[in-house]
Amino acid sequence: MKILIVGNGARESALGVKLKQDKRISKIFFAQGNATTDNLGQNYYESDIVSLRNLAIKENIDLTIVGPEAPLVNGIVDEFRKNDLQIFGATARAAKLEGSKAYSKKFMQDYNIKTAKARVFDAYHDAMDYVKDHSYPLVIKASGLAGGKGVVICEDVLEANSTIHKFMIDRIYGDAGIQLIIEEYLEGYEVSIIAFSNGKKLFPCIPAKDYKKAGNGEKGANTGGMGSAAPTPEWTAENQIDFEKNILEPTIVGLQNKHLNFRGFIFFGLMVTKDGCYLLEYNMRLGDPETQVLMALLENNLVDTIESCLKGEDIELKFSDKKALCLVMCSGGYPQNYETGFEIKGIEKVEHSTLLFAGAAQEAKKIVTTGGRVLSLVATADSFEEARKKVYADALPIHFDYAYYRQDIGEF
Ligand code: ATP
Repeated sequence: MKILIVGNGARESALGVKLKQDKRISKIFFAQGNATTDNLGQNYYESDIVSLRNLAIKENIDLTIVGPEAPLVNGIVDEFRKNDLQIFGATARAAKLEGSKAYSKKFMQDYNIKTAKARVFDAYHDAMDYVKDHSYPLVIKASGLAGGKGVVICEDVLEANSTIHKFMIDRIYGDAGIQLIIEEYLEGYEVSIIAFSNGKKLFPCIPAKDYKKAGNGEKGANTGGMGSAAPTPEWTAENQIDFEKNILEPTIVGLQNKHLNFRGFIFFGLMVTKDGCYLLEYNMRLGDPETQVLMALLENNLVDTIESCLKGEDIELKFSDKKALCLVMCSGGYPQNYETGFEIKGIEKVEHSTLLFAGAAQEAKKIVTTGGRVLSLVATADSFEEARKKVYADALPIHFDYAYYRQDIGEF
C-alpha cells in the first residue's frame, strides 16, 4: 500500500511516524516533507495540485492525507475525487468554513452553534460607526486567511479604528481584510477538538491544548503553536456534554443541510468560559501541534480508521489513558524575523521523546534549519510532570544557533 501525505510540518512528520507502524504500507510520499519525512519515505518537491494528482496516478497511491489548509481551500480533494483517487480531507466547498470567517460565522448563527455574538462588515464607515460606542475589549477579525495574524483584540476605540483602517483600507492582509467580523470578547481558556468525518457523522478525538503565544505564561506574539498537551487537563465531563449538544451536533446538522459533507478532519477551536464552551473557529484539517500529541495517544490503526470514514462507516476512536506533551523548538525571532540555514546538532542524544522535524531539511550530511518552527519533541507518560521532564531533558542537548523554546509547556 502506498500513501501520500501533503504538507511539511511536524504534523505531517507525526502522521508519518504513526503510519510507519503499519506493515501493510510499502511506501510513503511526502509533499514537500522535511528532514524527518526524508527518512520515513520519499520527499516530493512539487506542491501544486496538478503535480500531486499526477504523482498519485503515476505511483498508484492508495490514499492521500492532506495536512495544511491551502491545498484544501484550493480544491485538492475535488481534483483527486474527479480522478477516482482516494483522499481524506475537506472539499473546497467545506474548506470555506475555514477560508472565510464571515461564511463560518453565518453558518454558526444559522445552526444555533454556540459562538460569540458578532456582526459582519463590508463597508469601512459602517465598521467605524459600530465600534464608536461599543464596550471593550472587542475582537476584530479579517474574514479571509491571514496566517493566524488577522485577529486583533482591541482594548479601546483608538485601537479598533486603527485595526479597521489597516485591514480595510491599507489592506495589510490583502483581500483577506475586505470583509471584517467584529465580535464580543470571550474570557476563558482555549481547547482544540479534532474530529474525523465519515461524510455523515463526526467522531471527536480527546481534547488538546495548544500553547499559542511565543512567551512563557502565554505572553507575547501569536504563533503557529509553541507546544501542546493532551488530554486537556481542565476539560470536564460537563464540558464534553455541552460541546456535543451545542456545537458538535448542530454542526453535523448544518453540514448535512448545506450539503457540505466531506470525509476528512474538522477542528473545533473552542473557548471555555464560565458559561461553557463557545466555538471560535473551524479549521477544516488537523491542527499543528495538536496532531503531534493526538497521534502519540491514538490507539486505532490510522489507515483502517480513515478507510472506514471514506466508506461512510462509523468508527470508534480509542486513546491511551497516558498524557502526551509536545515541545516546539523554533528559530530565535519567530514569529517575526528569523534566520535559517543553521546546522542542528545533538539530535542523537534524544532518548525519551520522539523527535519530529518541521522547518528543517537534510543537506548532504547535515540537517539545517529552514523555517520558524524547527522541530517538535513529543513524549508520553503517566503524568504531565513526567512527560515534561522527558521533553525538556531531550531539548537540552539539541543545538542550533538562536534556538528558542518555551520553558512552561506542560505546567498546569
Ligand atoms: P488560528 O491561528 O488558530 O488559525 P485564526 O487566525 O484563524 O486563528 P481565530 O481562531 O478566530 O483566528 O482567533 C485567533 C485567536 O484569537 C484565538 O485562538 C483566540 O486566542 C483569540 N480570539 C478569537 N476570537 C476571540 C473572542 N471572541 N474572544 C477572545 N479571544 C478570541
